[in-house]
Amino acid sequence: MQFNLHNSFTSALPADSIQENKSRQVEGAGYSYVIPRKPSSPKMLHFADELAADCGWTSEDMQSEWILHLLSGSEIHPESQPYAMCYGGHQFGHWAGQLGDGRAINLFEHIHNGHRFSFQLKGAGPTPYSRNADGLAVLRSSIREYLCSEAIHYLSIPTTRALSIITTGDEVLRDVLYDGHPAMEKGAIICRLAPSFIRFGNFEIFASRKDIKNLKLLTDYTIQYFYPHITSNEATKYLDFFKEVSQRTLDLILDWQRVGFVHGVMNTDNMSILGLSIDYGPYGWVEDYDPNWTPNTTDAQGKRYRYGNQANVALWNLVQLANALYPLIENVPALEEVLENFHTTWEMRYPAMLANKLGLNAIETDHKNLALELTNLLAEEETDMTIFYRLIAHAEKTMINTDVFQIISPAFYNLEVMTDEIKLKWQNWIDRYLICIKGDTKSDLERKTEMNKLNPKYVLRNYMAHLAIDAAEKEDYRVLNELYNLLKKPYDEQPEYEKWFVKRPEWARTKIGCSMLSCSS
Ligand code: AMP
Ligand code: MG
Repeated sequence: MQFNLHNSFTSALPADSIQENKSRQVEGAGYSYVIPRKPSSPKMLHFADELAADCGWTSEDMQSEWILHLLSGSEIHPESQPYAMCYGGHQFGHWAGQLGDGRAINLFEHIHNGHRFSFQLKGAGPTPYSRNADGLAVLRSSIREYLCSEAIHYLSIPTTRALSIITTGDEVLRDVLYDGHPAMEKGAIICRLAPSFIRFGNFEIFASRKDIKNLKLLTDYTIQYFYPHITSNEATKYLDFFKEVSQRTLDLILDWQRVGFVHGVMNTDNMSILGLSIDYGPYGWVEDYDPNWTPNTTDAQGKRYRYGNQANVALWNLVQLANALYPLIENVPALEEVLENFHTTWEMRYPAMLANKLGLNAIETDHKNLALELTNLLAEEETDMTIFYRLIAHAEKTMINTDVFQIISPAFYNLEVMTDEIKLKWQNWIDRYLICIKGDTKSDLERKTEMNKLNPKYVLRNYMAHLAIDAAEKEDYRVLNELYNLLKKPYDEQPEYEKWFVKRPEWARTKIGCSMLSCSS
């Protein structure tokens, strides 16, 4: 088993001079060296075979004692020096000061086939950034992050990956509902991989402390390793960097909207500087289409992180990043132009993306309007987003209105009680859609094939994750395995898994862990 270890991040930035692993403010440093806690009896539940292969490792390698020790934090690779990163962040619209890797420990960087993988354990014990928390993670939230990282990857959306999930054999105390009833849960550790885990918050913490020297070191490092094509000089370089982060962030949110993913905690410490989806906590997938839906109970009041607000929040977060980078750029109009551009680009690309989901070319205004109006209609009546977009691909040029209505009807949660008024709206919309597809040169099959590449058939609905967790708590990992395999090919028909192509079951409508999730993890 080959390791090709690097430590570019720790070489580029100064380390915390204090070695003691105790909660505290860490100034003038990018990270603190810290040793993971030894779990009492680690057990590998699952590993990502294709990701392991990307690292140059076989399935046998992944089942070795050595990898179990390494990915559970039981042993440290002799050529590595694990560390926790220092970052800050704006949480729910307010500056929260220092946050940092409170329960994440970076092991090393491993390079294979020119790809850099930063290895990070989540739940391997406290660090100087743990504040008054324990640095641990429970099986429940670890399964959610493990499955979702890989589901998002296989949807072709940029994300941090998850290489392994290991139970620690230790118990962890959590108050799931935050209602004063804590209980013991199984502890677990996932190993996450990404080219880098740097967040907006890493820049913000230096800017907030007027530590311009380290701000510059961090930005230069990020550009050199992850945006190497940016070769402009000084202030222009940093502006070009900000432009690209802004573009990547826009691309990411557009993808999330397309597949109905709601992150749930888009604080600036959860925004990757590489435009990756990162930190899967109380996320969710839109089931009945509702732009005001947020899966996060902590956000139930303000609904800041609701599905329909993700682009606005991303822009707000980019404003915070612009403020942090300002000392290196010192050009307010130029930064404002980038932010304005985010807005205008979104206004153009969002309706186009929606039209593409319907197999329409999005060049004609009609197409975009039809696609936008559809989102209002979907929201009027409980309609399953994933099922709707997948079914409407079966519409054909020779069909009449009622045929199409029949095709989409399994997407409605309450078809029996649909009012005549709503039915009429659907009729009108379908009439216009039929005109659009009849006027298109694409064949029905071509359109359907294109649509199915944009509209997943299978997404990780919260009730599905809940079933996998429930079984895993009883040491039955069949659902976990099945969902993992299912979600590897989310755009494929996979008739053998048709049972997962259904609306959320009634029992899951109000169940904790299915409809709403707390941040407790
Ligand atoms: P999150 O909301 O999960 O993005 O976490 C926000 C901050 O809280 C980060 O700095 C985390 O490292 C920290 N944090 C969350 N849970 C724990 C925990 N169990 N122990 C230590 N730090 C934690
Ligand atoms: Mg976080």
